[in-house]
Amino acid sequence: MDKNRCMVCAKEGAFEGGICDPCKASIRGEAIEGQHQVKKDADKSLHKEGTEIGKKTHG
Ligand SMILES: [Zn+2]
Repeated sequence: MDKNRCMVCAKEGAFEGGICDPCKASIRGEAIEGQHQVKKDADKSLHKEGTEIGKKTHG
C-alpha cells in the first residue's frame, strides 16, 4: 500500500509515520501554539459582542 491515512486528521496521502506534516507540527507544538491563541481570542471577542455568527459545525 502506498497511501496512508493521517491518524490525526484522517487525510489521505503518503505520510511518514502515518501523520501528515501539519499534524506532526501541531503535535510537536510548533507554530500552532500561536494559531490556537488567535482562535481563542477571536472566539472570545465574538461572545463579547454578543453576535451570533451561526452555529459551529462539528464534524
Ligand atoms: Zn493530519
